[in-house]
Amino acid sequence: MKKQVCRQFFLDTLGIKQDVVYGALEKINSGGIVSVDGRGSHKNHVAVSDDVVEEIKSHISSFPTVPSHYYRQSSDRVYLEDLNMSTMYRLYEELQKNEDNYEDGEKVRWTKIRAITFNQSENDFMTIHYDDKVCRVDSMRRKRKSDKPEGQLDLQLSRNHQEGQPLRQLQQLATVLQKEEEEKKPNPVTQRVKIIMSAGLVFVHAHSRLLTDSTQTLGTSLSESSSLESISDQEVQPDSPLWQFYVSRFFASNYDYGLTLVLAVALSIKYVFFDDKIDLEVQKLLKRERSSGQQSLPKLTISKKTTPPPPAMPAQQLNGSGVQENLNEKSLKTKGQLSHQIGKKDIIELNGNEDKTDQKELLSKLNCNLANTEVNNVSPSSDRNSPKPAFFLGSSKDNDDSSSGSASDEECKDGHIVRSHSAQTQTDCIDYLNSTPRTDLKYALSSSYVPNISDKPARLLEECLAIMNSDAGPEALTDEEVQLLVKAKHIPSYKLESMLGDHVRGVAIRRQMLSKQLTVKSAMETLPYTNYDYKYVEGACCENVIGYMPVPVGVAGPLLLDGKRYNVPMATTEGCLVASTNRGCRALEQSGGVTSSITNDGMTRGPVVRFPTAARASEVKHWLECTDNFDLVKECFDETSRFARLKKLHIGLAGRSLYVRFVSTTGDAMGMNMLSKGSEKCLNMLQETFPDMEIISLSGNYCTDKKPAAINWIEGRGKSVVCEAVVKANIVKNTLKTTVAALVELNTSKNLVGSAMAGSIGGFNAHASNIVTAIYIATGQDPAQNVASSNCIVLMEPTGPLHDDLHISCTMPSIEVGTVGGGTVLPPQAACLEMLGVKGSNVECPGENARSLARIICGTVLAGELSLMSALAAGHLVKSHLKHNRSTLNMAPTAVKPAEETTMRHAATVPGLCTSRSP
Ligand code: ADP
Repeated sequence: MKKQVCRQFFLDTLGIKQDVVYGALEKINSGGIVSVDGRGSHKNHVAVSDDVVEEIKSHISSFPTVPSHYYRQSSDRVYLEDLNMSTMYRLYEELQKNEDNYEDGEKVRWTKIRAITFNQSENDFMTIHYDDKVCRVDSMRRKRKSDKPEGQLDLQLSRNHQEGQPLRQLQQLATVLQKEEEEKKPNPVTQRVKIIMSAGLVFVHAHSRLLTDSTQTLGTSLSESSSLESISDQEVQPDSPLWQFYVSRFFASNYDYGLTLVLAVALSIKYVFFDDKIDLEVQKLLKRERSSGQQSLPKLTISKKTTPPPPAMPAQQLNGSGVQENLNEKSLKTKGQLSHQIGKKDIIELNGNEDKTDQKELLSKLNCNLANTEVNNVSPSSDRNSPKPAFFLGSSKDNDDSSSGSASDEECKDGHIVRSHSAQTQTDCIDYLNSTPRTDLKYALSSSYVPNISDKPARLLEECLAIMNSDAGPEALTDEEVQLLVKAKHIPSYKLESMLGDHVRGVAIRRQMLSKQLTVKSAMETLPYTNYDYKYVEGACCENVIGYMPVPVGVAGPLLLDGKRYNVPMATTEGCLVASTNRGCRALEQSGGVTSSITNDGMTRGPVVRFPTAARASEVKHWLECTDNFDLVKECFDETSRFARLKKLHIGLAGRSLYVRFVSTTGDAMGMNMLSKGSEKCLNMLQETFPDMEIISLSGNYCTDKKPAAINWIEGRGKSVVCEAVVKANIVKNTLKTTVAALVELNTSKNLVGSAMAGSIGGFNAHASNIVTAIYIATGQDPAQNVASSNCIVLMEPTGPLHDDLHISCTMPSIEVGTVGGGTVLPPQAACLEMLGVKGSNVECPGENARSLARIICGTVLAGELSLMSALAAGHLVKSHLKHNRSTLNMAPTAVKPAEETTMRHAATVPGLCTSRSP
């Protein structure tokens, strides 16, 4: 007999869970055998001992703090001044790595303890007050040094270490400090120049005074008005020999002569003694290093980036203490025995004992080689993040062996500078990004394709096949014969490059085959394909390549953003866009610039899974929302990458389907690959826990990637940024040729009400996507991601004492950008990132480069909005547009009739300083 009971009542009465009932039922149905599921198989968290907790707490407490700006009235909460969590953790890690019991993965533990103890969330570092957003431990260290006597600092850092360890650390620390001190000292080349200039000045001064005095001495009466001309015409004939005369003038009892002389002498003494002192210090340093046996003789290598340091020296890592490109004599002397490798044929050995002339020669040789090897165009704002040519100390072997793991170095291979990166900062897949071998690039760019043709008719297919499979390989075939093999499917077309071992030839043959199929055979003639470095494309950026698309790149700026100036590259074919954005930048610069804030950071992937019932789906939703279970998922997710860190799960439910939106930080990568990898692993783990879960798709469009979606607008995706500026009334009037009142009114009518009327999602702006897309193309972002990335609301209000200034803000919640991976590896795109000082991985603070790029994009959008809106408000758009944004080059002669002009696409949309295709 079957009885129906209320399930909840039944379960509550028996005090059991629904899963148990399902399990029992399954057991009955399968004859008593229950398939194994993953329940109960997860390991418990390892309990953290009190000692470790205390150690972490006291390490964190040891950093200098400042009172909170936000809670000063009501709370005694304190904040780190110019550090962030990653830096603090890295310092902690450096200390711990020397401990025997150090385990990987301690970061989670450290982060938790910090969060619990100090009441901060994992991503607080973005909101913590630190002015330059630079995590420089050296400033922290200086602070600590100034707060405490040096010995105390050493003690502090080596606290809790076992015997023997602290000593080694002290030595390392001392070495680091010494090197830092040494770097802080003035550049001797500059010193010399100063001395020479001072001496020159003294001489000129003395000479001119001599003349003046002489004229007086000779009793020449010069009228004041004509004195200068007269003096220059005077011939002075001293009684004594010239040198005696000069000396006597020099030592004359004149006060300013004396002062100048004293200064010159003091400078010379300083130079002479200072130089020697450095020598001595360095000798001492090297001696100690040698005797401690921890480092082999330092080898000078070249780095294109601010250089990570020798092993196990946390502070130095963070300092980027490479010696700069303008290597000078001091550097040469201070490094002792240095070996510098620039090219295969160019290995220079520098010895501390070499005389100065030799050093000078070597110096000029080094600089010359550097100039040949490096192409650096760093904007003034690029500061620490920008890859700059630099030298650093420490052999590559040392760095490789280093447990600190963040050192990087370059070595010479086949005449190219090749960088090898250690685990902490770079990975296999992007190594080449920061180490574009320029000589290689030159080679690639100079190559052009000479078709491989023969007078004789092509050999038979079988013969070609035999040659291809022989040692001679497909290279021994003519282009026509290769085409035969492709047609016969012995060579897949997509594999042409790899099978021929020649990118350009592969592309050329594919083009030859394609042209034959086209109605206009010459159609591809003007699509370029030579002079391109295809090795970055293969297997990463594009398949079936037939050439490349040159897009003009303009520059807008400087954009004054958070006190730094950026020249923003924009790749576009849209006339007026760059000019307009440039004008916006100028107005903003005149007004004191733009301020930006990152409000959120998290890329997303939203898979869809299905359960037998909606109730079961809901049950799993609750399970995932429970903190402990989230921790399990996070642990599983975080294991998949050194940079991806799961922040939250946003879960949606529709019937039996569950949509799990994984939100994670992704370092400097845009992050889609990382999110896919992490989400996939978590789904597999969940499936073990819930065997009745069916994975429908790794992407369930709940992400949402490259499609308009409210979820991105509301929840954010990638970087969420807000920028603001106050534009002075006179600049609105003189530069933007409009008024604040007109701008505010237009913004309300167009960007707010107009977009609302159109049912827009995230489209509360005039043309954000114009700027976003142009920067995306220039900097190797995925241009398809302009869809969500252009989500933007522009607000304008009158402000200032007279209400005649303009407050403008630009809020962009979903900027999907990265500075590693994807198209950022292509040299031209990487060059544009380098212009902005955000190329590649940010060694000191992974993620900071991508966040800076997002800030720059938002700031530039603000400039573009300001300019276009002003042009619209001023009503002079049509004129400007017709002048700059029309080309008749491709038009049929009859297409342009005066009567039709106003209905043409340009005039029909937004004209003038905006663009024809802008909304
Ligand atoms: P995406 O996830 O944006 O699609 P990729 O997977 O192509 O990007 O590139 C990310 C790769 O770069 C990962 O393998 C990651 O380990 C590596 N990587 C190196 N440095 C960084 C960094 N600073 N931030 C993020 N990823 C980095």
